[in-house]
Amino acid sequence: MNQPHPEQPELLVIGGGIAGMLAARRAASRGVRVLLVEAGDQLGGMIRRAQLGDLPIDIGAEAFATKGGAFAALLQELGMLDDVAEPRALGSWVVTDGTAAPMPAGGLLGIPGDASLLDAEARSAVHAAVGDAGIAELERDRLLPPEIGADARDLEALVLARMGPIVLGRLVAPVTRGVYSLDPSDLDHRVLVPGLADRLLEHGSLAGAVAALRKSAPPGAAVRTVAGGMHRVVALLERELAELGVEVRLGTRVVAVRESAGPSSGDESWSVELDDGASMLAQRILSTVAVPTSEPASEGERAVPAEVVALLVRAPQLDARPRGTGVLVGDPSASIRAKALTHVTAKWAWQETAAGAGMHVLRLSYGPEVSGGAEPLTDGLDDDELLDLACADAARLLGTAIAADDVVAMARQVWRLPAPAARLGRAETLRGARSAAEASVGLALAGTWIDGTGLASVVPGVLRAVDGLFPADAQA
Ligand SMILES: Cc1cc2nc3c(=O)[nH]c(=O)nc-3n(C[C@H](O)[C@H](O)[C@H](O)COP(=O)(O)OP(=O)(O)OC[C@H]3O[C@@H](n4cnc5c(N)ncnc54)[C@H](O)[C@@H]3O)c2cc1C
Repeated sequence: MNQPHPEQPELLVIGGGIAGMLAARRAASRGVRVLLVEAGDQLGGMIRRAQLGDLPIDIGAEAFATKGGAFAALLQELGMLDDVAEPRALGSWVVTDGTAAPMPAGGLLGIPGDASLLDAEARSAVHAAVGDAGIAELERDRLLPPEIGADARDLEALVLARMGPIVLGRLVAPVTRGVYSLDPSDLDHRVLVPGLADRLLEHGSLAGAVAALRKSAPPGAAVRTVAGGMHRVVALLERELAELGVEVRLGTRVVAVRESAGPSSGDESWSVELDDGASMLAQRILSTVAVPTSEPASEGERAVPAEVVALLVRAPQLDARPRGTGVLVGDPSASIRAKALTHVTAKWAWQETAAGAGMHVLRLSYGPEVSGGAEPLTDGLDDDELLDLACADAARLLGTAIAADDVVAMARQVWRLPAPAARLGRAETLRGARSAAEASVGLALAGTWIDGTGLASVVPGVLRAVDGLFPADAQA
């Protein structure tokens, strides 16, 4: 028989990523007795430090969007506001088997706005990326009746209906693969960019719709980081949790959560099963991961895998930052296996200073072989094989020779990102999870799996969830 743990927490937080850490911190600072359980061997989740020799780097999230101000507010509370650093405004590039061009500005998900035809400078930037055939696709969008494509559900169908395969493969797919590790055919544009189809009907072209949306709500493209690495935030939070008396259990996976009848006082109302066979009761649960159930994950719910490979290279030729802050990969790309590369020492001045003269940090990411695959295509490669692959890709993407002998250190990390809400069919599942939680007393959901990818979504979501369970005035 499973034995309940003797000390019951008032709040059990499932998952020790930034969402779980913030939830535990906020509740504990209101006097709540908190237990945080984390399946892995360290806190921080997708914010993680790695070492390239003596050089610490971020191998997960490396920045935060300034949109909404929630992450900056957290940094202020932590006394880290002076460490906030801006990226260099160099822009990124898109590379295919035969082309390399700066990514045109002014688009949305890579779809150009109508300035790309009307303004000479913008037109020449788009032309460099898509050529005459791509410009012809943009002209076509302007001539078609507005209703063409307006009922398309996925992003690929919409772009193909209005523009064509060159714009799709050279501008749109590189962005969706780089950001979500998913093809445009897997993404629901109505979730990704609500109102795009309505604007298409209103303005008569997809490029016009993009321009209108950009005008009414400029995308939250502004990002910042913390000098020294985002992982410093996690280290500080971990110290705070200890000071607040939060109990943290690493290496502990929750395998089931059930509403428990509880004693008549109605106190302990949730029963949680752990992977070591133990069970426990908790008054309230805040889950930052999909609440574990025995149901197999459906297609739309499956995590999206990616492997990040970071290299420290001696390559003074990269001092000139030949591809801005980094590169996305367009079609066709048979000669390139990576989906994106960040030139970290070009993007962040603090990291350049830390790396030293002539030294560069490159971060490549690898998605699955085919969109929807369960493992990154680097799965099964040993470190030497991965190093050779990463050097070959970096050389093609940066347009300069990079040999394995130039690499001073390498780090690798496989990530499994929760399927984004914009994956076809996923939004319905998330709505179901939210309504089930709302119907239960003492269960709250937060974190990237339900609130969306990125710290600008995760932080406000988790604060709302804690306030729902423990209203601040009720604690006074
Ligand atoms: C490579 C990469 C780059 C990124 N770049 C950026 C960026 O530049 N800017 C940005 O804003 N965002 C970025 N993100 C996204 C950002 O990191 C996440 O949105 C955020 O960190 C998620 O925090 P979380 O706590 O919700 O989830 P996670 O960090 O995933 O934490 C969840 C934790 O729960 C644990 N867990 C899972 N199941 C269980 C269980 N059953 N029981 C107990 N514990 C469990 C996991 O081990 C994990 O530690 C990036 C992500 C990755 C992977």
